[in-house]
Amino acid sequence: SLSDRLTTTFKNLRGKGRLSEADVDATIREIRRALLDADVALPVVRAFTGRVRERALSAEVAQALNPGQQVVKIVNDELIGILGGETRRVHFAKRPPTVIMLAGLQGAGKTTLAGKLAHWLKADGHRPMLVAADLQRPNAVNQLEVVGSRAGAYVYAPEPGNGVGDPVQVAKDSMEVAKSKLYDVVIVDTAGRLGIDEELMRQAADIRAAVDPDEVLFVIDAMIGQDAVATAEAFQQGVDFTGVVLSKLDGDSRGGAALSVAEVTGKPIMFASTGEGMTDFEQFHPDRMADRILDMGDILTLIEQAERTFDKKEAEKLQKKVEAGEDFDLNDFLSQMAAIKKMGSLKKMMGMIPGMSQYREQLDNFDEREVDRIEAIVRSMTPQERANPKLLNGSRRARIAKGAGTTVTAVNQLMERFSQAQKMMRQMRSGGGGMPGMPQMP
Ligand code: GDP
Ligand code: MG
Repeated sequence: SLSDRLTTTFKNLRGKGRLSEADVDATIREIRRALLDADVALPVVRAFTGRVRERALSAEVAQALNPGQQVVKIVNDELIGILGGETRRVHFAKRPPTVIMLAGLQGAGKTTLAGKLAHWLKADGHRPMLVAADLQRPNAVNQLEVVGSRAGAYVYAPEPGNGVGDPVQVAKDSMEVAKSKLYDVVIVDTAGRLGIDEELMRQAADIRAAVDPDEVLFVIDAMIGQDAVATAEAFQQGVDFTGVVLSKLDGDSRGGAALSVAEVTGKPIMFASTGEGMTDFEQFHPDRMADRILDMGDILTLIEQAERTFDKKEAEKLQKKVEAGEDFDLNDFLSQMAAIKKMGSLKKMMGMIPGMSQYREQLDNFDEREVDRIEAIVRSMTPQERANPKLLNGSRRARIAKGAGTTVTAVNQLMERFSQAQKMMRQMRSGGGGMPGMPQMP
């Protein structure tokens, strides 16, 4: 796979103290081969390796203490750059309803995505409505109704028995229904074809004109391989879209299509679909995808998912606090520790991450009792100390260490880690929100 190839390449580089031009070129060749094998389109591979090569040969890298590591960082940066840089969130309309239209080839995963989106939006307090504007296949309306009921969302569909119906009219009518029934997000499912064709494009463009969507999401199967570029370009010209959804990322192909589509269209990837279930779905984070491609594991996404499932209330409380400009204190730290424990075995969780098997040794060395030890230390503090860690002078630290059955050094280490987590929270605040992060794990 792409990530296996890159991992091997980087392993060879990491140990090097000095890189010659020949080293860089050998590495670029490997990266190029790995990307092509992963079905990244050739022009995209060329542009990418060109940028990496130029930066890797710069004086900055040559003078770095560990040039190999610098190259890894450059590749990582460039990957994040292609994938869009920042996480792109849904743009909601100032005046509801927000209209989200789905477009893509047949079988790309649009109808499944409609349900996942509705489910995800509901968890965030929205009232989504699904619109069956795919009247091409006999079973399409029925499939959307099944998906809608699984998501617990209302489905607007043409009356049965009224003939084939006009999808543009259905989409238009649905806007009135949403307004009168106070649905605040309307998700319009559309028809696809097995290949690109003009009639399909015209219909999608007509639906777009009829509903004036806030977002048009182009759904593309991550397994599509080299066809990704042509398909994405056809949809960009025919319908245009505001964002991309990669579906079937649970399959073998990891990253190839993502890189091609993002580079060629310049549009952000907004979501990833990773299975047939309602919750096999996540917001797309370019930095985490870059990590995944480089096989550093996608721990943050897992944690975010677990957080969504198990501790939404806690996370909201924390988010409010952060937004109100209050400091993240040790009481919050304690509840985050409890959240981590609730997620069950961290080890098991990490085992779910593709590519983690090569870190077997580190995993086996990871001591879950560390979480208990940290908790014991924080519990040995008084509530005042937890709310105001500045109080923790030497004698208090000695008392806490004794109470927790540990050493002052361990208390100091924890406080160091805590202040890093606090710093991170402050950065997130000034960076304009986002999810409340988890503290750095030991
Ligand atoms: P549409 O024609 O674009 O509406 O595609 P569908 O939503 O009907 O999906 C086509 C097939 O792909 C169905 O069998 C889905 O269950 C399956 N599917 C959709 N998304 C995913 C995904 O993320 N992973 C996997 N493994 N299958 C998916
Ligand atoms: Mg469909």
